[in-house]
Amino acid sequence: MYVIKNSEQLSLMGKASRITAEALLVAKEIIRPGISTAEIDRRLKRFIEKCGATPSFLGYNGFPASACISVNDEVIHGIPSERRILSEGDIVKVDVGARYRGYNGDSARTFPVGKVSDEALRLISVTEKSFYEAAKFLRAGCRIGDVGHAVEDFVISNGFSVVKEYTGHGVGADLHEDPMIPNHGTSGKGTRLYADMTVAIEPMVNQGNEAVRVKPDGWTVVTLDGKLSAHYENTVAITNGEPIILTLAE
Ligand code: MG
Ligand code: MG
Repeated sequence: MYVIKNSEQLSLMGKASRITAEALLVAKEIIRPGISTAEIDRRLKRFIEKCGATPSFLGYNGFPASACISVNDEVIHGIPSERRILSEGDIVKVDVGARYRGYNGDSARTFPVGKVSDEALRLISVTEKSFYEAAKFLRAGCRIGDVGHAVEDFVISNGFSVVKEYTGHGVGADLHEDPMIPNHGTSGKGTRLYADMTVAIEPMVNQGNEAVRVKPDGWTVVTLDGKLSAHYENTVAITNGEPIILTLAE
């Protein structure tokens, strides 16, 4: 069942999402060659807790950290580690959520580490832009298929591919609520969006082939061809008009 939020719930979603967005600003500030992914994770946890929230991912289905931190060919669900030290030229995906008074924000960004290749920068940019293509259809009355089609069409036209095994989703009191929102689809198909739903839209875009596999750690999703992958996610409130992107901070 889709959850339509009342005004108090929407306000808590706004607060949780703001903390999530500000946590990603912390990540952006501290990411540099030489930092471990475990150190980034610790800093995010500390920030979220300082804001009176808790990290949504910590312990979720047994996930052992506060943020998913995935490097280069790792698509999503990377486990932070003291041994994983970022190097110049890497791209790093930080996916994090904050739970505030029972409601969750969920957002992800891909950051360049020092100077990265032009192709890596283009991948990051196309991934972010594909979210905004989707956002054109994030309004009451549009369908899930419109959203997914917008993402995939834009990504394909830029020569990259969309990961299909993992999807966007409703978000609220549960980190993952109905509906599932794939990053591919057919215009005019799928269930409708309604005002006051809150959803997480998260294109995962591969430089090469769309195929992915899960590493033996049971979590980390990597590209099968070893090429780069990028991720961009925001929590969004649906309205009858323009969507409200809740996880933008500046
Ligand atoms: Mg996320
Ligand atoms: Mg998500």
